This record gives sequence, structure tokens and C-alpha cells, in this order.
Amino acid sequence: MKSGTLQIGSVQVKVGEKKSFTQTIELDGTQVELPVFVINGVNDGPRLVITGGIHGAEYASVEAALQIGRSLQPEDLSGQVIILPVANMPAFKTRSIYVCPLDGINLNRVFPGKADGGKTAQLAHWIFQNAIQDADYYIDMHGGDLVEALAPFTIMSESGNAETDAKALKLAEVFGIRDIVKSKSQGSTIAGAAGAGVPAILTEAGGQGIWTKESIFTHTDGANRVMRWLKMIAGEQPAPVPTRMLNQFIWLVSEHTGYYYATVEIGDTVKKGQKIGMITNFEGSVLQEVIAPEAGEVLFLVSSLSINEGDPLLSIGAE
Ligand SMILES: [Zn+2]
Repeated sequence: MKSGTLQIGSVQVKVGEKKSFTQTIELDGTQVELPVFVINGVNDGPRLVITGGIHGAEYASVEAALQIGRSLQPEDLSGQVIILPVANMPAFKTRSIYVCPLDGINLNRVFPGKADGGKTAQLAHWIFQNAIQDADYYIDMHGGDLVEALAPFTIMSESGNAETDAKALKLAEVFGIRDIVKSKSQGSTIAGAAGAGVPAILTEAGGQGIWTKESIFTHTDGANRVMRWLKMIAGEQPAPVPTRMLNQFIWLVSEHTGYYYATVEIGDTVKKGQKIGMITNFEGSVLQEVIAPEAGEVLFLVSSLSINEGDPLLSIGAE
């Protein structure tokens, strides 16, 4: 429970106020714009932080965060909501896949960031210090990148802190996407948050540069359900939806540069040992057979014919 004046960067937002502004932050001499919505509710309540566009071309996440920021009013709010709809503006402007173009680093691998690190690490540090670390709950909205198709799912980070992890799981269940994936990777927004005791989820909907009404709604409806659950906005408690816990989140990676031919689709169930695609060289010879290391379901799938060594190919979620 937090109340009182909020300070984000150089801007103060009093109780009962809403401000929408663009904060300029400096990363080693490069000026980066960061659009911000702050809605400081008239009544006390939790502080919810929402980010979109950590990957700049995941447009459903950006548009969903914008819609939430535009529609929320302090008169209707108990608590505080901070929204960064385009957390990675350099990537958004350049339609960059995976990485921030300032130094070629994936912003979702360097949280909680470093004040004296590279430019992307500094950006993570600013976002973490100014928004994430003092949140009561945190939702980081994503989707498939420009070259990725995906079926919606929610990721929670297993931090080992039982109380934080239990709250994050509850948050994921309330958000309402069926598949919940547990991740142990470090450096993500939600791992950084969990490390600071902030219950957090990363929600995935949309992809391939397309921002459908349906994929935007998956994010906005989920956030709406969370705010009703936390009694931050009026409305009935959200009806429970069936969820499925996927304890394994397996990423397959290309070992070569060439052409990528997947032989499965999003949502397909695969068997352990099943051939699910191949990489060929530019003359057509097979360089890599892609084999499912475990049985499970295809959660995201790279749809690009062009593939580089080290690029993700697809992920399998398994119970
Ligand atoms: Zn992403």
C-alpha cells in the first residue's frame, strides 16, 4: 500500500492527479525518450507498474499499455498506476528485433541494470529504479517479435522467495491466460523484480508485427482483471479461468546461419525426439535437424526464412 506524491524522473504527480509526459533520459550522452503515464488515485491502494515495448516491435504490448494509460482516471482509482508503454524507444523507432540498437543488447537480459554499464544496462537501471523496484505488482507486456508467431502465455520468474513467487503465481492466474510458464532465467524484467521482492509476470500476446484487437484485448483484459482483483477499480472480482502450469520452458536455438524450415505450427503438440524443422545452407544442404528434446507444446515459433547462428527457433512448453 502506497500513497502520497509520486516522483518519476523529474516529474511529480500528486494524489488525485494524472500526468502523461515524455521523460528524456541520457545514456552515455545519447538522449532517449521514455513516454510515461502516472495515475495517482484519489484513494489509497497498491502500486501497479505496467511496461510495454521492452522489445520495441512487439506492438500489441505497446498499444495495450497505451490504451490502459489513456483510459485510467485518478477519480476511479484506488492506488497508483505507472505505465511505460514504450520502454525501449530506440528499438521502437528502428523496428529493431530482440535488441536495443544503441549497443545491440537485449533489454530483457540486463535487469536490474547498471548505472555504469552499457547504454541498454543504463536504460534498464533507470526503469528499475524509477518504476519497478517500488511496485507492489508489476506486469511486463510482450508478444512475439517481428519474426515470431506465438500463442498467448504468461511467464513467471521463480526467484526462490516463496512469498514473492506465490504472489506472482496468483497474479498470473488472475491475469487469465491459460498457459503459465515458469522461468529461471536471470536478467529479465520479472527476474529483476522478483529479486527485489516485487511479484511480477511477463505476458505474451500478438506477434509478427501485427497488433490485432484480440491480442491487445488479451493484455488489456488481463490488466483490468488484475486491477479489479486488487480492488483498484470498481467491478466484480474476476471469474477464475482454467490455467495450466508449464514447468519447463525449452528454447531451441539455431547452430548455423542459413534458411530455416519449421515443420510444426504454434500450438502443435510434439513428441520427444520428433523432427520439427531444419536449417539448410544457401545451397540447400541440411546443416541442422531440429529435434524436440522433450514432449510438449509449441509456444512461440520464428517465422523468418532467414536465420543466424544463435537465433531462437522456437520454444516448447512442457508440464
Ligand atoms: Zn518480448
